[in-house]
Amino acid sequence: MDTNKAATALKKYFGYDSFRPMQMDIIQTIYQKKDVLVLMPTGGGKSICYQIPAVTMDGVGVVVSPLISLMKDQVEGLRSNGINAAFLNSSQTIGEQRQVEDDLYNGNLDLVYVSPEKLVSQNFTSLLESIKVALFAVDEAHCISSWGHDFRPEYTQMRFLKQKFPGVPIVALTATADRATRKDICIQLQQRQPEVFVASFDRPNLSLSVKPGQKRFEQILDFIKERRDQSGIIYCLSRKSTEDLAGKLLSKGIKAAAYHARLPPGERSKVQEDFINDRIPIVCATIAFGMGIDKSNVRWIIHYNLPKNIEGFYQEIGRAGRDGVKADTLLFYSYQDVMVLRDILTQNESAQQELKLAKLERMKQYAEAMTCRRKLLLTYFSEQSEVNCNNCDVCKNPPEYFDGTVITQKALSAVVRLKQSVSSSLLIDVLRGSGRKEIMQRGFQNIKTYGAGRDLPTRDWQFYLMQIINRGLLEIAYDEHNALKLTTASKAVLFDGAKIELVKMQVANARQAAAKAKAKPKTKRERVRDELFEKLRVLRRDLAHKQGIPPYLIFSDKTLEEMAAKRPLLDADMMDISGVGEQKLKRYGNLFMDAILNYIKEQQQAGIKIQGTTHILTFDLYKQGLSVEEIAAQRKLNPVTIYSHLAHLYTKGEAIDIFKFLSQAEYDRIEQGIKAMTPPFQNKDIFEYLHEEVPYYKIKFALAHYDKLFLEKN
Ligand code: ADP
Ligand code: ZN
Repeated sequence: MDTNKAATALKKYFGYDSFRPMQMDIIQTIYQKKDVLVLMPTGGGKSICYQIPAVTMDGVGVVVSPLISLMKDQVEGLRSNGINAAFLNSSQTIGEQRQVEDDLYNGNLDLVYVSPEKLVSQNFTSLLESIKVALFAVDEAHCISSWGHDFRPEYTQMRFLKQKFPGVPIVALTATADRATRKDICIQLQQRQPEVFVASFDRPNLSLSVKPGQKRFEQILDFIKERRDQSGIIYCLSRKSTEDLAGKLLSKGIKAAAYHARLPPGERSKVQEDFINDRIPIVCATIAFGMGIDKSNVRWIIHYNLPKNIEGFYQEIGRAGRDGVKADTLLFYSYQDVMVLRDILTQNESAQQELKLAKLERMKQYAEAMTCRRKLLLTYFSEQSEVNCNNCDVCKNPPEYFDGTVITQKALSAVVRLKQSVSSSLLIDVLRGSGRKEIMQRGFQNIKTYGAGRDLPTRDWQFYLMQIINRGLLEIAYDEHNALKLTTASKAVLFDGAKIELVKMQVANARQAAAKAKAKPKTKRERVRDELFEKLRVLRRDLAHKQGIPPYLIFSDKTLEEMAAKRPLLDADMMDISGVGEQKLKRYGNLFMDAILNYIKEQQQAGIKIQGTTHILTFDLYKQGLSVEEIAAQRKLNPVTIYSHLAHLYTKGEAIDIFKFLSQAEYDRIEQGIKAMTPPFQNKDIFEYLHEEVPYYKIKFALAHYDKLFLEKN
């Protein structure tokens, strides 16, 4: 099977111009009927890797997925792209299942999604044996392994596939799989020397940033204000904090809902539905949220608390920006969170306790990083990256160092005087001379360094203390209520006058100031683009609501952005937009083009000209039945200009009856002229060749027609 076929199907069904790196190689391998293991991050484009072979190869593609809740959306998405797809699982009535089975039997389907239970059932296997199967795709393949973090026992019964269908390629796909899991997948599926494809786990469209965890709510409000109506998730550690936070947002007039495992199932699925369908933009959730969600236009993720490990963190931020459009992630970090998590981990003895603590430590390193955060993440996933990403807060605002010897001395000497018995928050309060009860009771107001750090706000002290600890100048005794202890390195500062460089606290403030200063007023072009995007978004939402499907299934944010920037008004231009395939063009093309045209007309009435639209305004009047002269009069343009607009539209494939303006005899005469020319030539050359007897606009029409005939013939 050739690559052309795959590329053609990609354009026709999905509206995409090219494959992403690796997709084509994977597809080719499947064409060769070889087994494949695909490791790609969430949003990397795994589905296309088996969907394209399924629609281009003989027989049906059978997709096994543990996420029953997702199947409906996935199938809906495929159908809206004109692909014959269906799903089979226990959520359907017997009648519905029978219908799908009939369709399968009759060869009417390109893709069928099934639950693992269904796949291994006797009936279904027999059905598959009686038809042609193009491939098996096992999605979320890490569920097969007890090493993975999401083990599903029913996934371990698929060995029989290879035995019963030896010639059918098995494609296993996952976003997370360490070496042990990878091996397990291949063994369990009995894959024969599978080709393994490991895509980069980098998600360059996700911005990364970490902020100190003080005044989180105010920070969140600011963050949301800059992202009105955008979908986002705030991950919290506890059920209670999801509810508190959602409540506080609501009280500020911001639509938000809480989501956690203890909600009644009905309510839980309602929140999820409302989020997917853009009815509620913000969900405050525990980690349970997001597993069964394919929503591509999640624009931001906030971690209200530090996650337990980088795997979980990366998976959660990975839920943003699956459409490839820029998305923002923000992690709030406070040392308190580390301690809470450490307590949880050490409370119950577990076999993997040490491993878990080590993973938490890596997470903490991410939060405290003073070098590119993305590099750190990629290194964690064993990927080397040489360059700084320029899309994380550290890259955008590299740390500035200053002489922090005095600050460090104050902190260390207070620790000495407090007999190494207090935690960092109490230490800061002593340094700042707080009148807190505990301080008074323990008599700490009498020590020499009490109030010695008054000049710095608590936030700054936390920031510096964190660095001091990371430098190994202080140690936390987790088994003594997190009391701070001196280390051998502290002595050098206390007694030998060692100099200590610290990162300036102003970084965060300067960064905000810089961002504000940079926020230039929008250019006209940007304003038009943003306003139009908004109109298209509303149209998309209304259409989706009417059909009861999620808006992103109509067009992704990326597609709408491109429409808003390029303003397609003709079928041919619409087809050039990434994400507009044949089916979508048929179904939604005119609706979106009308919206764009209406916007342009509104602007024009307000006296604002938008470039590149003049022929469309002509076309609009033409379609209303006006003559060329009438259009020219109304648009205050020369009729010749109107003719040239119409000729241009004709070349674009629009329904213009050019023989209203040009007789067949005239065309024949001009055609002779065209044939007599050697390219490249200009209209003027033909004009002269025809003794300046035929007006230019007729030459334009004839050329348009000639090109069209030529294209049709070839
Ligand atoms: P995954 O299953 O790996 O999480 P998806 O298959 O859902 O990712 O793809 C993520 C997004 O990227 C989808 O919106 C998909 O349509 C889009 N996409 C996939 N391949 C391409 C491509 N070649 N060109 C443009 N967009 C693509
Ligand atoms: Zn970076």
